[in-house]
Amino acid sequence: MTDPWRGDWQRLAGLALWGVLLGLLLDGIALGLLLVLSGYLAWHLYNMLRLVRWLRESKKFEPPEASGIWDHAFEQIFRLQQRNRKRKHNLRRLLKRFHKITVALPDATVELRPGSEEIEWWNNAAARYLGFHYPRDTGQRISNLIRYPQFLAYLHSGDWQREVEIPSPVNEDITLRVRVIPYSKNRRLLVARDVTRIQRLERTRQYFVANVSHELRSPLTVVTGYLETLLDSDDCAGQLGDQLRSMRSQTERMNRIVNDLMLLSRLESEDPQIDTAVVIVGSLIDTIADHARDLSGESEHRIRLEVDAQLCLMGHDSELYSAFSNLVFNAVRYTPAHGDILIRWEEAGGELVFSVTDTGMGIAPHHIPRLTERFYRVDTGRSRATGGTGLGLAIVKHVLLRHEGRLEIDSELGAGSTFACHFPLARKADCP
Ligand code: ADP
Repeated sequence: MTDPWRGDWQRLAGLALWGVLLGLLLDGIALGLLLVLSGYLAWHLYNMLRLVRWLRESKKFEPPEASGIWDHAFEQIFRLQQRNRKRKHNLRRLLKRFHKITVALPDATVELRPGSEEIEWWNNAAARYLGFHYPRDTGQRISNLIRYPQFLAYLHSGDWQREVEIPSPVNEDITLRVRVIPYSKNRRLLVARDVTRIQRLERTRQYFVANVSHELRSPLTVVTGYLETLLDSDDCAGQLGDQLRSMRSQTERMNRIVNDLMLLSRLESEDPQIDTAVVIVGSLIDTIADHARDLSGESEHRIRLEVDAQLCLMGHDSELYSAFSNLVFNAVRYTPAHGDILIRWEEAGGELVFSVTDTGMGIAPHHIPRLTERFYRVDTGRSRATGGTGLGLAIVKHVLLRHEGRLEIDSELGAGSTFACHFPLARKADCP
């Protein structure tokens, strides 16, 4: 039992004694006790009333003066209040700091109301890049303020893992990369970053690579022409002949690199919608398999096809040829003689899948994530010796990006590899 309680019991005992004495005076102990205890009860009620009034109305921070158990009660409530006030103060400070941080963020940040497209809040960068005005735009639907079709399609798609690029509604020269971030239960945050500079640099890089490749083409053609003429002439036997043949194979390699670089530049810069048509994948694979058998030559790889000839794909014929042939030719180049190569085209797992499986040298797991980088090779010597440019899988990646597809690589060192191109079912087409 705590001290205040003991004090109160003592007080009660004292009062009972006074009640008995008063009872003796009034000739009725019960009456005396009743009077004293009524007074005690009235004291409690009075203090309770003061407590309620203090909690509800008083602007005073300090609790009212009291005695006995009520002094203890007031003290405890006062301490609790102090703790709560401190916590509230800290929370308010934290909230203010967060608010200041989000306001100062260089990226436009917009908060949408729960489960709706209505705007709840935005920071200064959003006002600058998206042209929102306070209070006019509070509660407006974001789709009324940003009306670009690609943004609306993205907003309504529900697939917010990716980002979308749009011009700023206030300045078309500014490019914004927009991302919707779902959080809490049904809340969404929209973040837009100014990528104008990055995009400009990327475009400069693309122009540079495209121009250099283009400029290299003419001198290469001239050199190749002279080499052919010299090799055709009678007086280049012996060592000179070997040197000229080596020069020709190097110019051929350079030609392949230049062509691949030009193809990559085109894949990066052209609109993916251009020239989309029904691609008869079955006959595309037949052609690629014929070329693969030629490439295999004396190595005599066993090339098998498992092709659903009724399955066609909406896409670009020449691009798909580049992607699929790169995978098949790689299988030939990285599989020892007489190895097995299986080419498959099928509908599986709710997707359209083109895959090439070989029983070749395989790839160690740590190389796999980097294979689609330009000029990344596991074994540079072997790649060059077999006529590789180091750009094949980068081309595959870009072609698939333009076809909403993805590349999956499954490989075991020394056992073989499977390279699979997955396309969404929406790209399935009726074969003509
Ligand atoms: P490359 O012209 O060098 O073949 P790619 O971009 O086509 O360039 O391939 C990148 C690297 O991936 C290759 O250098 C090779 O090491 C590895 N690779 C690609 N396909 C296979 C395969 N089927 N088996 C083993 N390794 C492969």
